[in-house]
Amino acid sequence: MESCRHLSLVLVRSEVKRRCQHCQLVLSAEELGDSFCPECYEEKGQRNYAFENVKDTTEGKALYLCEDCGVGIAAGVPPGA
Ligand SMILES: [Zn+2]
Ligand SMILES: [Zn+2]
Repeated sequence: MESCRHLSLVLVRSEVKRRCQHCQLVLSAEELGDSFCPECYEEKGQRNYAFENVKDTTEGKALYLCEDCGVGIAAGVPPGA
């Protein structure tokens, strides 16, 4: 059996992040939920709900799938995490 070098990778999942329009703090949508910006709240006591979505494919929990062997490869996740 030939070992697969996983050369045909397709991105199947990229984490959606949200960036605060006031302090530019970036949080994962999962982490944030429907909450206000924790940074603005800590700094100014303001409950800030103004966020913009950031599509992050370079870091975080991007997941690739090898088209040849079907194995899933997580990118940007440190070993042991
Ligand atoms: Zn493969
Ligand atoms: Zn903020």
